[in-house]
Amino acid sequence: MNRFLFIIAMLVFSIKLSAQVQTDMYQYNIDLLNVREDKVQVTLLPPKNHLREGKFVIPRMVPGYYDALNLGQYISEFQAFNKKGTPIAVNRSDTNTWVIPDLEHIAAITYKVSGGWRHLLEHTPGAKSPESMFKKDSVSIINYSSVAGYFEEMPPRPYQVTIKKNRGFYASSALNYRQQNDTTDIVSAADYRRLVDAPVLYCVPDTTWTQVGNTKVLVSFYSKEHSSYSKVLAAKLKTILFHQQAYLGGRLPVDRYAFLIYHEKIPKGLLADGLEHNNSTVCLYGSATLDKLPEALIGVASHEFFHILTPLNIHAEEVQHFNFLNPVLSRHLWLYEGMTEYATIHMPVKQKMISIQAFLKTVEAKIKGMDGFDNTLSMTEMSTNAIKMQDQYMNFYQKGALIGLCLDIRLRELSNGKMGTQELMQKLIKKYGPEKAFKDADLFQVMTALTFPEIRRFFKDYVEEGQPIPLKESLQKVGLDYDDVQKTVTEMSNPSPGQISLRKAWINQ
Ligand SMILES: [Zn+2]
Repeated sequence: MNRFLFIIAMLVFSIKLSAQVQTDMYQYNIDLLNVREDKVQVTLLPPKNHLREGKFVIPRMVPGYYDALNLGQYISEFQAFNKKGTPIAVNRSDTNTWVIPDLEHIAAITYKVSGGWRHLLEHTPGAKSPESMFKKDSVSIINYSSVAGYFEEMPPRPYQVTIKKNRGFYASSALNYRQQNDTTDIVSAADYRRLVDAPVLYCVPDTTWTQVGNTKVLVSFYSKEHSSYSKVLAAKLKTILFHQQAYLGGRLPVDRYAFLIYHEKIPKGLLADGLEHNNSTVCLYGSATLDKLPEALIGVASHEFFHILTPLNIHAEEVQHFNFLNPVLSRHLWLYEGMTEYATIHMPVKQKMISIQAFLKTVEAKIKGMDGFDNTLSMTEMSTNAIKMQDQYMNFYQKGALIGLCLDIRLRELSNGKMGTQELMQKLIKKYGPEKAFKDADLFQVMTALTFPEIRRFFKDYVEEGQPIPLKESLQKVGLDYDDVQKTVTEMSNPSPGQISLRKAWINQ
């Protein structure tokens, strides 16, 4: 990585300091009224401290995205000022970090942040959705991981962000934005992790609130070409959320959830991208028309929404105390992504939204999809090495989901139909939850203790080691034939009563 030396001429100018008083919080000001060339001005009043020097960090990585993002690349014109408003020399040690001397006496840090979504929509290689976007007077999407930072030397502190915005613009987010006046909003977060976990969409509102059980769901939509579309999308989403709620035992484990959906007209093709957060999903759609949007949205949103189970309620310490510069990755991506994808394909058939034939087509697609990857690898090793093993990452959604299927059938078999992955996930939520992490090395033991001794062997063979997953054997138990040459799954013509009842317990059909 390049090393930059970023020195500011000391006597050129000084800054007029704001009237804000230094507290224990990070106090940010973001000015969306003065967006120039896709760049926004950001000011930070650091928390009170006694540090001789502070290392300011913008994330190299973010939770849920298993590749280096180097979000510091979007930061420019970084400056620090002392209490007299005089600029202080700052050393940019690499793309994502700045060393600031005499931090104790720093009264303001200013920089500009560029948006990155333009590149994403233009399919520029390397463009990633955790970036932000600023369009003067029309729309902004703030992903705080690319806008705000923290000091490595300080323990976690709360954040308060003041945002200048156009009159009539509304902030859609999982966090609660308080309006101070027509053009100023304020939002608070308990710490950095919670701030970056809640992106915000700013625009003239096209929003619909809907209630699913005890959960308030916000659907917020932006498109330059279309308005009043959020209610169409909310109606579609509501149907699937009701089924998800039933699938999860009648109660969703979140109070509030936000879908932030951005559409942009592109001449041809369809670009769909989603990134899960604990209480929201940002969806980006590039398409010529809106015809296929509801269906594509359901596809992305149902997977992302199931992340409220894991990692939100079930996660390792590595996720809870995520290191944004050099994270140690958890070994359980098979759980976070594989089990989430399994719930996404299992729920529609279990809830009788689709036929068994349609479900089996999805299973066949997963089996064929798995073929493009090295299936002899250990899924736990693929997880801790996810950054280096990018070419294998997508197999968590193929083989990972099929591991979920085999595990579900095995659990149903061992419990006489009473317990499957749905019940296992509920037990894990009860044991852990959003604020209580599991020890990465202990999870298989815990899951075994919550289920059956035989399950430890299952994890050893198919998750820790790369043994061929028992598809034929598992499907046979529920009266399905798997042809491993043609890669087809079909219903047996004369299933036994035992096979019929196990299938009923598994998929309710
Ligand atoms: Zn996912």
